[in-house]
Amino acid sequence: MFYCKICGYNFEQPSAVYENHGFLSPPYEKLYVCPNCKSDCISERFFSHCRCCGARLTTEDSEYCSEACKIRGERLRRLEEKRRRRFSESPLNMLVREVEEYNLKNNTNYSYGQYVAIILPKLKTGKKKCTKKRKHI
Ligand SMILES: [Zn+2]
Ligand SMILES: [Zn+2]
Repeated sequence: MFYCKICGYNFEQPSAVYENHGFLSPPYEKLYVCPNCKSDCISERFFSHCRCCGARLTTEDSEYCSEACKIRGERLRRLEEKRRRRFSESPLNMLVREVEEYNLKNNTNYSYGQYVAIILPKLKTGKKKCTKKRKHI
């Protein structure tokens, strides 16, 4: 699939023309041009796929094949973003990060379960819980 940069025409195969450069006999230069306006400013079309249903897209400036897919896709994307945000703010995720930090600091390799069962009780009895408040910027 090709398209013409001049007139925007889409076509499967470009037309071949022979440019004689003013000479009356061959060899002529073979050029591929737009079948519509005969411009050689043509380009092979890059196809992308609908983010929602995976259909092949004919336009490069859209992520979806149809308005319905766009609405559905955008909704799914928003839901996914919301879910991810919620996850990163969840106490569980904070604890997971805590385990990672602990392992890094102490050169250990505790799993989340081990950390909760072994390390956390020790930390709680050993020293006061961190009360550092989060600063608002
Ligand atoms: Zn054209
Ligand atoms: Zn689609």
